[in-house]
Amino acid sequence: MIVYGSRMYFKKNVVKSYGECEHCGDFGKMTSYQARKFGHIYFIPLIPMGKSSQILQECKGCSMGAQIPLDQLDSAVDSVADQFKSLIVSATEGETEIEVEPGYPKINIGAMIASIMGQLYCLKEIESPDSISDVLMASNMSYENELVLAKWNELNGDLDKTSAHYEAAHRLQPEAPLPIYHKAVTEFRSGRIDAAEEGYKKYLQLEPEDVVAHGELAGIYQKQKRFDQVVKSYDEVFRINPENLSNKHLKKIYKKACKKSGVQGAFLAQM
Ligand SMILES: [Zn+2]
Repeated sequence: MIVYGSRMYFKKNVVKSYGECEHCGDFGKMTSYQARKFGHIYFIPLIPMGKSSQILQECKGCSMGAQIPLDQLDSAVDSVADQFKSLIVSATEGETEIEVEPGYPKINIGAMIASIMGQLYCLKEIESPDSISDVLMASNMSYENELVLAKWNELNGDLDKTSAHYEAAHRLQPEAPLPIYHKAVTEFRSGRIDAAEEGYKKYLQLEPEDVVAHGELAGIYQKQKRFDQVVKSYDEVFRINPENLSNKHLKKIYKKACKKSGVQGAFLAQM
């Protein structure tokens, strides 16, 4: 039997990180690197296929990731780096919120810096959060600093520290929904289901119209086989966004949960 196929060869700038996969939704190990696809025979690269590329956050579970051709990489990195620099300048000027889209709620600058830091980390452009922390602390932005450190620990797969930094951010701004939400997500990833449930409930008191969070909470109840609560959560999902009523997968879970719990869901008659 001849072993042939294609795969990425000559990997460099390899960065290991943790994150949520955009394709399969799982949280886990990811790899970013530069490489080129080759056709191989017995794993010996023989036929170059396509251009060299930067692969970003290739998921260990499903092997999917984002791909940037290497000849476009410099301009892509420059635009991310420019965005990052302008955020850092705004932070030194004491600005805590940024308008990303006119007419939409402003976003906390710490959350934005954290997100872009993640991209730059995977591109091997940042190796430590220290200089970012220095800038934020010099502007007395402890809350923003906690968001950045939470993200840093998440990238490195230390979920206990991630959770602790979101908790610290929550203590600094108890009314801010963001750290409560991220802490709940982190607890879920750590397998602390009860803490995750409590976190989601707390978050939904502040943001009752967040359909994604209702869906995630439904997933927790589903895991616990608490079908009456699954029905309740999906009632919210369908109420907030009726378009979900045409989602076959959700409908199936909902109908099953109604049957198992004996609860007549508010939308059952429409299905
Ligand atoms: Zn995946």
